Amino acid sequence: MIQNSTKAIGNTNMITQSSISILHKENLQEGIFKLTLSSSFISKKAKPGNFVHIKVTPNDYPLLRRAFSIHGTDKKNGGLEILFKVVGKGTEALSKKSPGDTLDIIGPIGNSFYLPEKNKEIMLVAGGMGIAPLWFLFTCLNHRFRQNKLTFFLGAKSKNQLIYAEKLKATKTRLITATDDGSRGRKGKVTEVFLKEIKKGNYDKSNLVVYSCGPPMMLKRISEIAKELNLFCQVSLETHMACGVGACWGCVAKLKNGSYQRVCVDGPVFDAREIDWK
Ligand SMILES: Cc1cc2nc3c(=O)[nH]c(=O)nc-3n(C[C@H](O)[C@H](O)[C@H](O)COP(=O)(O)OP(=O)(O)OC[C@H]3O[C@@H](n4cnc5c(N)ncnc54)[C@H](O)[C@@H]3O)c2cc1C
Repeated sequence: MIQNSTKAIGNTNMITQSSISILHKENLQEGIFKLTLSSSFISKKAKPGNFVHIKVTPNDYPLLRRAFSIHGTDKKNGGLEILFKVVGKGTEALSKKSPGDTLDIIGPIGNSFYLPEKNKEIMLVAGGMGIAPLWFLFTCLNHRFRQNKLTFFLGAKSKNQLIYAEKLKATKTRLITATDDGSRGRKGKVTEVFLKEIKKGNYDKSNLVVYSCGPPMMLKRISEIAKELNLFCQVSLETHMACGVGACWGCVAKLKNGSYQRVCVDGPVFDAREIDWK
């Protein structure tokens, strides 16, 4: 394990900047990669919802770090996973890294999802790469709240873009898949499939806890649904960000009470009903 330049960021020991080595790399689907990194510090501290900020090349281009949700941890062996999709230069550079290479990483950053009481009914709604933080949350909930009812709604444009459908199926959790083109599971947006399920199901809405992550339009819609049905719902926002440690205020989200919150350190997890999507 390499952690040769570990130093505390800010006035707490909770976030560090370290040089961290890549242990494994998997190309899961076209353009989608999973990296396992070696950081006992981050893996021990990480909670579902936290993210890491990665300098993807040793030079000045791209200048800014890129944010990735913590996708999983192996606390015993100090492993830390990220799952990402290649969308531009930064993620492309990251996809070219190999086991043994090191990355300059700041983390764990941000707040985390609320972990519910044991009597709650849990619904996770992931769209596309939204699976990245929700998988980590799911593994914690599945482990800690085994007795609970838990439903995973997994959506994508088409069946080839569904990530982890088989993996989730293997867990025996109730899985509802949705694709825009109907090539797998129910046809339509995952948010509408979720809404239909809630409306037709015999759920005690006051007992439901909903978590969601995905593209902004999807999170806007899930927030509308949460408001309409008065559901407790947390969303993880993936706003563009610069410093990632709360200094630049470049990643703010506006709340309905008129305040601005930094997605990096006040979030990335927010109560869906509080966000002002206008
Ligand atoms: C807290 C947080 C957690 C994240 N977790 C993950 C994750 O687990 N897996 C993952 O694949 N991605 C995640 N992202 C998004 C990821 O940071 C971006 O995809 C990445 O920064 C893109 O860098 P790039 O240089 O490849 O693309 P760029 O060249 O910067 O951009 C390429 C395209 O992607 C768009 N884009 C870039 N960043 C974002 C963003 N943050 N939100 C929406 N669109 C964007 C740009 O507008 C452009 O169209 C997360 C972002 C945040 C803020």
